[in-house]
Amino acid sequence: MRYLVISDIHANLAALEAVLADTPSYDEVWCLGDIVGYGPKPNECVERLRELPHHSLAGNHDWAALGRIDLSTFNLDARVANAWTQSELTTVSRAFLETLPIQAEIDGFTLAHASPREPVWEYVLDARQAYANLDHFSTTFCLVGHSHVPVVFRANDDRRRCDTLLGPFSGPLELGDERAIINPGSVGQPRDGDARASYALLDTDAHTWEYRRVGYPVEITQELMRARGLPRRLVERLALGR
Ligand code: ZN
Repeated sequence: MRYLVISDIHANLAALEAVLADTPSYDEVWCLGDIVGYGPKPNECVERLRELPHHSLAGNHDWAALGRIDLSTFNLDARVANAWTQSELTTVSRAFLETLPIQAEIDGFTLAHASPREPVWEYVLDARQAYANLDHFSTTFCLVGHSHVPVVFRANDDRRRCDTLLGPFSGPLELGDERAIINPGSVGQPRDGDARASYALLDTDAHTWEYRRVGYPVEITQELMRARGLPRRLVERLALGR
């Protein structure tokens, strides 16, 4: 099976469309959450995802949009954006987001929005944290989003620590046998210094993981955000990929 693995779309429809246009053929989409929040097109992104064969998770921003998380736990910009998203969501979008789990096990892979240990909140930002998370899932691989950074944390041969694999990679990565926590990066708000949308292709027959990047018209999303009065810092960061 070939899976299109995406995460953290954040209501950025232009970025999502660019990914869908760029991706080679696949059997199913795995979306690791944060479909809405920050960006200007929450309902349209939900609708687009629903049209595709997919398994999706909810992230902390999706929960915030549903009122399941107190907005005071977010920084000011995120709070303003989440309040706007709450007011904007249609009944249909809400009903869809309500159905999404925060973690899942599919085809031998664990999926979690943030981390297997704390699926809604924990950022897996370094190898030490990744290593501590290995005890919290039973499959060989766990796919996470949340940090918006494409990265692979793979258990070392001695299994006493994880190595960090950061791109750019020259081609598909062999998944190998060692356990790993893998992040496809963010479609709608990358934070690794590259403003292009990030996503991955998982081929479970070839046992490979391929990172891909695709540019999209950032200015379209920025213009829509300005028109909706969304915070300036959130508008500007899209062009920086930070
Ligand atoms: Zn996110």
